[in-house]
Amino acid sequence: MLDSARVNSVSCFARCHHGMLYYDSKRFPKLVHPGLKNKNLLLEQIDACHKRGIRVPVYTTIQWDYHMSRLHPDWCCMTADGGLVDSCEELINQIYEPGFYRTLCVNNPDYRQFLKDHIQDLFQALTPERIDGIFLDIVNVVDCSCQHCVDGMLKLGYDPTDKQDRTAYAVQMLKEFRLEMTAFIKNLKEDITIFITEDISDRLR
Ligand SMILES: [Zn+2]
Repeated sequence: MLDSARVNSVSCFARCHHGMLYYDSKRFPKLVHPGLKNKNLLLEQIDACHKRGIRVPVYTTIQWDYHMSRLHPDWCCMTADGGLVDSCEELINQIYEPGFYRTLCVNNPDYRQFLKDHIQDLFQALTPERIDGIFLDIVNVVDCSCQHCVDGMLKLGYDPTDKQDRTAYAVQMLKEFRLEMTAFIKNLKEDITIFITEDISDRLR
């Protein structure tokens, strides 16, 4: 169908907002979706597309991973009043409602390391030859008061009690995150496209 529609590139997902994986992970086998009968779903999707000359950038999520946010609440962004940031305005912190909008802080070194381990694992599972590009989704400016962000702000002379300063720091920190992740991915494969979503909501500024 993609071929007859003359599609030349399609993103396929490696990991979703619930934190499940859709490839045969060696590093994180417990994160593979329990209902996934064919663990090579992503790999076979890529091969089927490549056979028809269609590129397949691989999608993964950055700030929304509900599973990790439940396992590691200390990896989540923190509000100025000490709560956890939840991007779903209608269901803020409603643990028993369906959703996945609790927001993870990429300034947390343990979560950033997990993201790198996951991407490396993906390259091992699929082989670099199969990966045309990486799509890092949900990379938004977040007003975060977690200890890592507070420490970062103090180091650079920002006032963590000031919302504008927190936002300015978040913008700067995300730039550094994008550069670091880009270098990390390019190190795994030089000839690759990298797409990172930009925050266009402007709602925090
Ligand atoms: Zn933070």
